[in-house]
Amino acid sequence: MKKLLLAFLLFISIKSLITAQNVVTIIIDGARYTETFGDPSRTNIPYMNELSHQGTYIDNFYNDGYTYTSRAVPALWCGNWTNVTDTTYNGSSTQYTEMPSIFEYFEKQKNPGDYKNVYVLKYINSLWLQSFHQDYGQSYWPTTFSQGDNDEDVLETTLQIMNGFHPQFLWVYLADVDHAGHSGNWNEYVIAIKIADSIVNEIWSAIQNDPFYADNTTMMVTNDHGRHTTDFSGHGCSCEGCRHIMFLALGPQVKQNYISTQQRIIPDFAVTAASILDVDMEYATGEIMSEIFTTSAIENTLNKKFYYNQGKIYFNIEKTSAVKIEMFDITGKKIDVIFNGQLNSGKNNIQINTSEYNGIYILNLQTNTYTKPIKVIL
Ligand SMILES: [Zn+2]
Ligand SMILES: [Zn+2]
Repeated sequence: MKKLLLAFLLFISIKSLITAQNVVTIIIDGARYTETFGDPSRTNIPYMNELSHQGTYIDNFYNDGYTYTSRAVPALWCGNWTNVTDTTYNGSSTQYTEMPSIFEYFEKQKNPGDYKNVYVLKYINSLWLQSFHQDYGQSYWPTTFSQGDNDEDVLETTLQIMNGFHPQFLWVYLADVDHAGHSGNWNEYVIAIKIADSIVNEIWSAIQNDPFYADNTTMMVTNDHGRHTTDFSGHGCSCEGCRHIMFLALGPQVKQNYISTQQRIIPDFAVTAASILDVDMEYATGEIMSEIFTTSAIENTLNKKFYYNQGKIYFNIEKTSAVKIEMFDITGKKIDVIFNGQLNSGKNNIQINTSEYNGIYILNLQTNTYTKPIKVIL
């Protein structure tokens, strides 16, 4: 029986290896669009301008909620605008998000291992926390490296971590552009953007030069908010300057040399990153920005959404297909056929009579084009 269990677990891990992709996200705090991709000369972002030919940028990416960091960064994490709650943690006052973050979804659903789910930023005395959500929460938070004084230090930490641990999901937060903007010194602000631009380039080069990451990694870059249209030293209102932000993505599944004009918003960021990790952000309101992906990537990744929540199995199928959902116990023994029949394309859901089961089960979804197992607790 033990052999059978091993064989079955091996089968699952091979399946997820095939679809697994690495994702590196970079947040440049408070760069206004008019100084990044909104500037036709791209004076401050020569590297990202060059990189954009290998990837996609969105010309209509917006902060659609609060244009300040303490709410926009949690929205970037959580794939929706989440309330935050004051708390005291390790002796410091801080806040945690009410909704689960992408880190938690990834950790719980993929169990990726030590140092595979990593958040890097400069040293901050009282870090903002992810959620204590009943389904996710603290045991699924990322490994956080909060060290150094500036964006260059964050780059150094990032490169060491990539080299040493090869995280599958890496979130890099660069704070200096916003800080320089608030100083009111235009030169400092522009220099900080140029440094962030070169850091994005360094991280992309590191990805390309590491066999673990090369050709298997998507990088996504955005901002939490911009700055006032008429006064770059501040932000926080709903003016165009505060709302309009950049979005750049590169990777094997991302369209090359493509500019998308479809309007997109902050909650879409994490949900799109999660789709590449094959993670489902069940409580998020954001949408997958499918227009940035190549057609084959969409077929391979987006249509494989398959998850269980509160008595129902949800899944998308691309074409009308024969669908079979079988249930196995943890030893790999088939115990039930949940569904066997023809289903139409699009979103489908099927009810499970949960009162009949108690424990951990494997559900295996089989369509004409793919097979996918998931683990559920009933
Ligand atoms: Zn900010
Ligand atoms: Zn404003």
